[in-house]
Amino acid sequence: METRLIRHVTLRRRRTLKISISRTLDINAVELVSPAWCGECGSEVPMIPPEVAALIESLPLLQIYKGIGTGKLHSAEQTSGSVLVCLNSIALNR
Ligand SMILES: [Zn+2]
Repeated sequence: METRLIRHVTLRRRRTLKISISRTLDINAVELVSPAWCGECGSEVPMIPPEVAALIESLPLLQIYKGIGTGKLHSAEQTSGSVLVCLNSIALNR
């Protein structure tokens, strides 16, 4: 009798572990993508702000900047001083 009770508790724990959290991002992707020159690709490519890259890749923003620093992620500095990340390089690093 006691053993059955323990099994029941174990099953309940397993159920709890299967619960996952999902979130929906309300982003108009078209507005965030800017065509810009990527020196590494040697052409004009779609680029996004580092913050958006972090959201899309589910990575900390610092990780995106590290990728830019090491050259894994291509980037382009805009005349405004902001930095954009090349979507091609994001796809290559998946
Ligand atoms: Zn590129």
